[in-house]
Amino acid sequence: MPQLSESIKKLKASSTVAFNTKANELKRSGVDVVAMTAGEPDFQPPAHVFAAAQEAIAKGLTKYTPAEGMFELREAVCGKFERENKLSYSPEQIIVSTGGKQVLYNAFMAVLNPGDEVIIPAPYWVSYPAQIQLAGGVPVPVMTRPEDGFVPEPEAIRTAITDRTRVILINSPSNPTGAVYPREVVKAIVEMAAERDIWIFSDDLYEHLIYEGEFTPAAQYAQDKTLIIHGASKAYALTGWRIGYGAGPKELIKAMTRLQGQATSGANSLAQYAVIAALNEVEKTRAFIEMTKKAYLERRDVLVTGLNSLGLKTPRPQGAFYVMADLTRLHEDETEAALLLLEKAHVGVVPGTDFNAPGQARLSYATSLENIHKALERIKKLLD
Ligand code: GLU
Repeated sequence: MPQLSESIKKLKASSTVAFNTKANELKRSGVDVVAMTAGEPDFQPPAHVFAAAQEAIAKGLTKYTPAEGMFELREAVCGKFERENKLSYSPEQIIVSTGGKQVLYNAFMAVLNPGDEVIIPAPYWVSYPAQIQLAGGVPVPVMTRPEDGFVPEPEAIRTAITDRTRVILINSPSNPTGAVYPREVVKAIVEMAAERDIWIFSDDLYEHLIYEGEFTPAAQYAQDKTLIIHGASKAYALTGWRIGYGAGPKELIKAMTRLQGQATSGANSLAQYAVIAALNEVEKTRAFIEMTKKAYLERRDVLVTGLNSLGLKTPRPQGAFYVMADLTRLHEDETEAALLLLEKAHVGVVPGTDFNAPGQARLSYATSLENIHKALERIKKLLD
C-alpha cells in the first residue's frame, strides 16, 4: 500500500468510540450487553424538534447552507447566550459545525503553531489531546484528584503556564469526571489566561446537565479571549444529528469558517432547522431538559451508591452523565478491567487510559435505571 502520513500513523482511535463499537458488536452477535460506553442520551429528542426537521423535509429545505451555518440558527444561538448566560454575541461571532467535535478541531487548527502548548485539566475527554497533536500542538495535562471532586487547582494551572501556552481548556461540567467548577475557580483560571493573552476554550456541552452547583460561563470574565464550544447533542438528545456551535471573537470565527469552508462546508441543513426549534421554542425545550435531568439524577445516585457498595470507589459527580469508578479491585490495569467487564459481565465501560485516569473507567448513566441495576448485579457477580 502507498504511504500514510506520519501524523495519521501517530493518531490513536478514539477510545470512547472504539469501546462503544466493541459493546455494540457484542450486542449484535446476540449477547445482552449493558452499554455504558458512549455519552449518548437514551431519550428521543423532543417532539417539537422532530416536527421542525419534518417540516424542513416537507418544504424541501435540503440545499447547502453557508459554511458558517444558517443565519437564523446563528441568531437563535445568540438568543440562547443572551437569555441563559447574559452574554451578548452577534451572528458573525457564531459558527455552526458538524458537532462540538468539529468546532473544537477547527479552533485548535486556527490558533496553534507547531510546539504551542494547550493546558488541559486531567482526566480529560479523549479527543482533546488527539486534536491538539493533529494541529501540531502539545497537550499539557494538569492532574485533578477524585478527593477534590476532580476540580482543578488554579495554582496548578498557573505553574503549568509557559511562554508556549496558547490555550487553557476548561470543561465544566466535565466529560469524563462530571466535575462542576465553582465560580471562583472559573474566574481565577480565566483571569490568569486573560492577563497573559492566552485563549480560553470553554467546552460547555454539558451546561444544562447540572444537579448540584451552578454553571459559570467563562466568557463572562473575558469574552474577547474566550471561545465557547457548545452543541445540541447532550441537552436535546440530538447526538446523531451532529450540530455543534462555537461563539467567540469575530476574527477567530472567520478563521475557523475558512477552514470549515475548505473541509466540509455547512453542517446538515435539516438538522440546523431542528436545532433552531430546540433553541427558540424555549418553554418546550426547558420542559424536556428538566424531565431528562430528573431521570439522570436518580440514575446517578443509584449507580454511585451501587458501585461504592461493591467496593469500586466512585465520587458523586455534580454534572454531566458520567461517573469515574476505580476498577483496581477487578484488575490493576484499567483496560484489562474494562475488557473483563465487557467479556465476562457484559457491561460496557470506557477504560480511563485515554482520559489520563489510570486504574479508573468511565461509566455513562445515560441509560435506563433497569440497565443500571442489571449492570450492578452483573459486576457484583463478577467480583464474587
Ligand atoms: N462525547 C461522547 C463521549 O465522550 C461521544 C463519543 C465521542 O464523540 O467521543 O462518549
